[in-house]
Amino acid sequence: MYCPFCNADDTRVVDSRLVANGGQVRRRRECVHCSERFTTYELAELVMPRVIKSDGTRQSFDEDKLRAGLQRALEKRPVSIEQIETAVGQIKHFLQVTGEREVASREIGEAVMVQLRELDEVAYVRFASVYRSFQDLSEFQDELNRLTGSGVQPPVG
Ligand SMILES: [Zn+2]
Repeated sequence: MYCPFCNADDTRVVDSRLVANGGQVRRRRECVHCSERFTTYELAELVMPRVIKSDGTRQSFDEDKLRAGLQRALEKRPVSIEQIETAVGQIKHFLQVTGEREVASREIGEAVMVQLRELDEVAYVRFASVYRSFQDLSEFQDELNRLTGSGVQPPVG
């Protein structure tokens, strides 16, 4: 691939390793021309099911949006980018193994919650409070009670 610094078309791989639980290959490359180093990530592109929104309209699965949502929920939490990438990979895997050509956005939301719950309970509650806002208030209240009981503070506001 082209060097992002000088646009030379000859770069060599100096290091290659699996990241995100083997879902990505991280490569350190060095430009043969200017000797600058940069990193590339390689991941397999698999067909994702289309997403059925609550109003019935369809749209293509947006991995960036999923990642951004996770990052927003995990803002200022002790969770690494690596862990977020692993979660993104697991959610995608879950959607792929359903074998469905279309999935409801609600199912994606549930998959996100499963991941968040494992990563960080505060982020989980933060996401759940937005996501489940009115459709499942009692369950959210139970969750808050459970977390408060275990000494974790619920989010303010
Ligand atoms: Zn270069």
